[in-house]
Amino acid sequence: RPAVVWFRRDLRLHDLPTLLSASDAADEAVALFVLDDALLRPSGPRRRAFLTNCLRALDDDLGGRLLVAQGDPATVVPAVVREFDAAEVHISSDHGPYGTRRDEAVAEALRDVPLVATGSPYAVTPGRVTKPDGSPYKVFSAFRRAWSEHGWHSPAVTGADTIGWIDPGDTGLRVPVPEATVDSLPPAGEKAALRRWREFRDGTLDRYATDRDRPAFDGTSGLSPYLKFGCIHPRTLLHDLRDRNNDGAVTFRSELAWRDFYADVLFHRPETARTNYNADFDAITYDSGPDADELFAAWCEGRTGFPIVDAGMRQLLAEGVMHNRVRMIVASFLTKDLHLPWWRGARHFMRCLVDGDLASNQHNWQWTAGCGTDAAPYFRVFNPTRQGEKFDPTGEYVRRWVPELRNVEGSRVHSLPDGPPEGYPEPIVDHAHERRVALDRYARIRPPR
Ligand code: FAD
Repeated sequence: RPAVVWFRRDLRLHDLPTLLSASDAADEAVALFVLDDALLRPSGPRRRAFLTNCLRALDDDLGGRLLVAQGDPATVVPAVVREFDAAEVHISSDHGPYGTRRDEAVAEALRDVPLVATGSPYAVTPGRVTKPDGSPYKVFSAFRRAWSEHGWHSPAVTGADTIGWIDPGDTGLRVPVPEATVDSLPPAGEKAALRRWREFRDGTLDRYATDRDRPAFDGTSGLSPYLKFGCIHPRTLLHDLRDRNNDGAVTFRSELAWRDFYADVLFHRPETARTNYNADFDAITYDSGPDADELFAAWCEGRTGFPIVDAGMRQLLAEGVMHNRVRMIVASFLTKDLHLPWWRGARHFMRCLVDGDLASNQHNWQWTAGCGTDAAPYFRVFNPTRQGEKFDPTGEYVRRWVPELRNVEGSRVHSLPDGPPEGYPEPIVDHAHERRVALDRYARIRPPR
């Protein structure tokens, strides 16, 4: 009897341990992906379009044999098992709050057909790196040390021919892969991910430690959408870098450790997708009401009058992408200059980002707001103008995204000493004043520093 390989966040054929366990159990398999509304709905058009482009690429790599079905996986997966009389269903594990619940429901619905999980989307599966007493790490640097010591497997040697793929034919369960309705997306799929990785590894990586903070440069890997959907696995990257120890490689490894760390944090504390990791911050007051809504709309649309903030938010709307440094600046601005709750910003990010990922998004937001792991310095309030001058010193990034400022030269584009040019708004708040308000609110719940 055949197996079912149910693809989820592992849209690739190389370095995929699931294929090894499926091929141990069966000679043939049905390749399945389930379009699940519970995941698609909050994704926003860009991430959905990138996903469907990745499905098309996977289908090509499988010679047109990917069965794409739609509906609740607890109904659809057993239906596929019945249709093909499959003996087992193979997956790579999902440790997110929704994925865990979904897989429990599917395992129950499958009754005596085993749901076999092999591997995960992380270098080290969430929950595996613990303190000697078995408790989870709460601080990144300690996690990273233990994570490095724990280590990871070598890449699994797999490909399209690891198992025979059954042609699913015209089964009534099959639905067409939806057309992508947005453009300017990164090229999709495993081949594109590998191409991007090699380009970065053999070029920019050596300068990564210095260039990664400059939003005007193409100084980072751009791999996050591919990592999100598993078009490439972090283990592949870490293995490629095993003998490289220059600053670029060391810093890049550390960024991959952040990804694993936040997945681990969410695994241990699934409720922190919605609530403060540090409950001391539950007492902080955020603004609400029509004025707050108007400020929020200005932030979303990139018309705050703070050029680096507006550039980032407009890039997010136009491309579903934002540089890490700019994500920190706009998140600090929302929580500490506009006094709006981090989860409002996080929800907007999740709707817009091509790489939107619950663990990385919610916990980076919490880190910026000060209520997350690492006892982040809640009293540090980014000055958006100084941040712009420091990390976009030529002003190139801002001019690229804010056409009203195209004629303002050099770093003056951040401070606008002659006032905003025609068509560009005055700053919607006074940063110095709002900084004091934020510090005052924080001081009420935490001892001042
Ligand atoms: P690179 O600099 O090339 O880094 C390589 C990889 O390391 C990334 O692809 C990513 O997988 C991982 N990584 C890097 N920085 C971080 C980090 N701070 N936390 C976790 N993993 C990291 N990343 C997401 O993948 N999805 C999100 O939804 C997301 N939301 C964020 C929200 C905020 C407010 C902030 C401050 C950061 C967020 N990040 C998120 C982290 C980071 O901004 C992106 O991973 C990075 O910008 C992606 O670009 P890159 O692939 O070129 O990164």
